Amino acid sequence: CGIVGVLGNHEVAPILVEALKRLEYRGYDSAGIATVNDSTLDRRRAVGKLVNLSDLLVHEPLRGKSGIGHTRWATHGAPSITNAHPHQAGPVAVVHNGIVENFRELRAELAEKGISFVTETDTETIALVAQSHMQSGLQPIDAALKTIAQLEGAFALAFLFEGEEDLIVAARKGSPLAIGHGEGEMFVGSDAIALSPLTDRVTYLEEGDSAVVTRASVTIRNELGEVVQRECKTINIDQ
Ligand code: GLU
Repeated sequence: CGIVGVLGNHEVAPILVEALKRLEYRGYDSAGIATVNDSTLDRRRAVGKLVNLSDLLVHEPLRGKSGIGHTRWATHGAPSITNAHPHQAGPVAVVHNGIVENFRELRAELAEKGISFVTETDTETIALVAQSHMQSGLQPIDAALKTIAQLEGAFALAFLFEGEEDLIVAARKGSPLAIGHGEGEMFVGSDAIALSPLTDRVTYLEEGDSAVVTRASVTIRNELGEVVQRECKTINIDQ
């Protein structure tokens, strides 16, 4: 299972699929990507090997220079297209590895507000909580950070938003996550290997960190919400 994210200067779908290929060694049962193009958030998902996702993208291309991608190792809900990531709730898409331990409590709170669910996953809850914060008036960054603070468990995740072609919000709690620095581009990946064809300059998030990523900047906060500096390392991985 793996996560990738790209705020790039080129069509991003093939770049996302290529980065996901570099995470195949971790194992997965389904895969998907989401992009923002002309402000519109859209996604493609497929069960099985990444080639199935690539084939789908040939027939139903996904345009855009900003996107997130995921290979799933199902923990909650069968491997199916409906349960595959990215999960989307209105203007929010999310990819997530790991488990949200308190998803039943969060689901119950959403159900009380009359919100219904289309998947069996813990992950869908994350998208729905973020959407409900946006419906209450929060901007995407604040909605994402508030959602992340509510999640318990061991996970890594990345958010993408409708109308926001220069924003990914990512977080690490228990699962590694790296930010890759490009030239006017920025990347997110479960490990540096996923990003190695794209950049060799990487910042590893520390436990409990969240990152607000744009093409020009990365703002990292620790678990207390304090802005912190994390070292940017130049890595050397054979491609
Ligand atoms: N718990 C999530 C799911 O079952 C994420 C699984 C993963 O790590 O890929 O969809």
